[in-house]
Amino acid sequence: MAVAGVPEETDVLVVGAGPAGSSAAAWAARHGLDVVLVDAATFPRDKTCGDGLTPRAVHELSRLGLEDWLREHTVNLGLRAHGFGQTLLLPWPGGSLPNWGSAVARTELDDHLRTTAIKAGATAVDGLRAVDVRRRGGQQGPVTAVVLERTGESGEKERVEIRCRRLVVADGVRSPLGKVLGREWHRDTVYGVAGRAYIDSTRSDDPWISSHLELRGPEDEVLSGYGWIFPLGGGQVNIGVGTLATAKRPANVSIRPLMSLYTDERRAEFALDGDLRASTSALLPMGGAVSNVAGPNWALIGDAAACVNPLNGEGIDYGLETGRMVADLLAAGSRSDLTDSWRRVLVDHYGEAFSVARRLAGLVTVPGLLPALGPVGMRSRFAMTLALRWMGNLVDDADRDVAARVWRRAGRVSAARDARPPFA
Ligand SMILES: Cc1cc2nc3c(=O)[nH]c(=O)nc-3n(C[C@H](O)[C@H](O)[C@H](O)COP(=O)(O)OP(=O)(O)OC[C@H]3O[C@@H](n4cnc5c(N)ncnc54)[C@H](O)[C@@H]3O)c2cc1C
Repeated sequence: MAVAGVPEETDVLVVGAGPAGSSAAAWAARHGLDVVLVDAATFPRDKTCGDGLTPRAVHELSRLGLEDWLREHTVNLGLRAHGFGQTLLLPWPGGSLPNWGSAVARTELDDHLRTTAIKAGATAVDGLRAVDVRRRGGQQGPVTAVVLERTGESGEKERVEIRCRRLVVADGVRSPLGKVLGREWHRDTVYGVAGRAYIDSTRSDDPWISSHLELRGPEDEVLSGYGWIFPLGGGQVNIGVGTLATAKRPANVSIRPLMSLYTDERRAEFALDGDLRASTSALLPMGGAVSNVAGPNWALIGDAAACVNPLNGEGIDYGLETGRMVADLLAAGSRSDLTDSWRRVLVDHYGEAFSVARRLAGLVTVPGLLPALGPVGMRSRFAMTLALRWMGNLVDDADRDVAARVWRRAGRVSAARDARPPFA
């Protein structure tokens, strides 16, 4: 049955209008494809996030033509790392990537990205939750339509189907539609548990983002994670804490009380004023720790494909990148099977870096290791400059310097030893 405002059919259907989905929709539309972008939420909508944009993300937003828009927001020069009695100012390394970062509240960023997709020619419909798929020829067959549900004004549920030739699944960390398609998230490798809030500060124009690498819990114990304060301009900052966990070593922390504790400890130094607003927490799938990332005519991107850097929790950039790359693939091979080709793209771009990053992040969850190594690392500007580059995966294929070569080699060695490599 046709429903007003909802297209019945499209070439490319993108489910989820976060950074990943909007990027996929924008690039696919720019390739001249017929694109529909749906989301369960009504925009603008919030998303639990630190709102931080590293130079990788700035680079990707610039490709979308958003550099000038981004520069109207905060511009930061690098990371101020605190911990173990030290404070180091670590400028972004530059090289083949921009030498600046930014931070934009997700309510605004995601709305702007979705508008960018619409301007590129995608048809966007919000308030539509994908709940099921229709397939041709059984469970392994191609998806022919997605079943979506919306809630009417008097609370009644209404179902609608959109037929599609290709499907991009960008429905975030829990990926409900991905699950219908067989996506499995493995927690034997590292994942994140994190929370964020907003608070007023007269230091909201600080040109450095701050991270506290010595995050302490209520018993003054060092936790396997870090706290952050990301200036957003306009008198407010994003403040949050994140910890790393594995199935064997769960985080065992209550995020919201930890955020309050962290805020109180930083209140004077960062001129934090008043109460925390919009405190929320969420999980972060990381390092490609999912199986079944693609089928004959569908592909998972962004958080749905666990494309989050295990060493810094960055996922906006990977969402934007995977959106662009899947659109390129769809434009290049109109009818080709995506099952192997999309997995191969993910493995080629992120397999080695995610493998070594999640191995190192996993070490941080080993009790006693961070308190032992943290002070040593923080005493060396050289070590921390390297760490910033590696933790941010700020290494491009074009980089030929020693640090880049060491990182790539570590990735190759790590991937060769993985019991379950990324995206397998
Ligand atoms: C506390 C915290 C802090 C973080 N800090 C940072 C940071 O500072 N920088 C950074 O780069 N990354 C950060 N991340 C990670 C980042 O938020 C994610 O990696 C990023 O949002 C992934 O984008 P996405 O488009 O894949 O998914 P999302 O942004 O989650 O978008 C998914 C979209 O899908 C929609 N959706 C879900 N289910 C359905 C459905 N069934 N039907 C239709 N639509 C659906 C949702 O409404 C949503 O709009 C942080 C994460 C957390 C939890």
